[in-house]
Amino acid sequence: MMNAKRKARTVLCALIFTGGLLVASSLSSQGMRGTIKKESFGKTTGGEQIDLYTLSNKKGMEVSITNFGATVVTLKVPDRAGKAADIVLGYDTLDGYEKGTSYFGATVGRYGNRIGGGKFSLDGKTYTLPKNNGENTLHGGIVGFNKKVWKAREIALKEGQTVEMTYVSPDGEEGFPGNLSTKVVFTLPAERNELRIEYSATTDKDTVLNLTNHSYFNLAGKGSGDILDHVLTLHAKEFTPVDKALIPTGELASVAGTPMDFNTATAIGKRINDNYEQLVFGKGYDHNWVLARSGSGNLSLAAEASDPKSGRKLEVLTTEPGVQFYSGNFLDGAKGKGGKPYPLRAAFCLETQHFPDSPNHPNFPSTVLKPNAVFRSETVFRFSAK
Ligand code: BGC
Repeated sequence: MMNAKRKARTVLCALIFTGGLLVASSLSSQGMRGTIKKESFGKTTGGEQIDLYTLSNKKGMEVSITNFGATVVTLKVPDRAGKAADIVLGYDTLDGYEKGTSYFGATVGRYGNRIGGGKFSLDGKTYTLPKNNGENTLHGGIVGFNKKVWKAREIALKEGQTVEMTYVSPDGEEGFPGNLSTKVVFTLPAERNELRIEYSATTDKDTVLNLTNHSYFNLAGKGSGDILDHVLTLHAKEFTPVDKALIPTGELASVAGTPMDFNTATAIGKRINDNYEQLVFGKGYDHNWVLARSGSGNLSLAAEASDPKSGRKLEVLTTEPGVQFYSGNFLDGAKGKGGKPYPLRAAFCLETQHFPDSPNHPNFPSTVLKPNAVFRSETVFRFSAK
């Protein structure tokens, strides 16, 4: 028979033991999934509190995302020796993102890339948008989704860590019709080095939309020179040629026999300065490629890029019909993270998307969203090293 004192001690020990087990198990399951941390990223000039969410997994990948512009701020992935480096351009502080004009890492909306003449018609009505790129509207207008404060919440899933961002764009914002509710879900799986981005949106009036992520990659590490020796594959047999102002002509042109053909892995710099009209217009690559896909809306491999020095490789998978490959032709040496300059072609973007200016080209896949329908799109940035 146990005396009262001994009984109490046994119960206490049991409690400590189970408590210990509980703590240990919650730590280890968190360890299994990776971790998520929320911290302040400062206040906007308008006084709004902004946060930074850092997701990490056990494979050595870490990504931080802010709810200012639903923006990817850092993306750290290991090289062939297992050494992680941040491979996206950006700024150290919120202030950089508030003032910046390059869309570093941002969610772009309502309409990624250009709408020619800042105008389109829908259901017989003409909509006029603010022009912020010569005579055209670029990346959603003067104050696009990249400058909006999004609502965010973290979700710990079995398979990894997720941060969900939502933004409701009011009817008429930047000239677009309909109240548009947009959700962007960023997931870092525990077991794979990839960033999964799932977009969804609904509207209460017919509208158009084209959402994308505008990360600028340098697989050797941000601020480490240009990306001309990165090797690129684009799984596309056609692209959409543009005029001088980078507005699509409406044609789908074959890439065969041109410097636009990346069906075989080729260094970005190999043909970038060729005297080829489309490259002259773009000041390098700044075009939409028509992805060779089944049209099923399933995820498929759109592009692959690798850096011979670090061994890092990026694969881009998407449900979207197009990808804008932009070779950083407008980067001008302005300073970013750690005060390091980002010169011409210091990074490349692979913006998965519907085609630029689709509302003015009925032959392009439609970007119209109607009430009662749900827009859904997914893109995966997958990393490896060898
Ligand atoms: C466009 C470029 C533009 C860049 C930054 C890209 O998506 O195609 O023309 O300069 O974004 O705004």
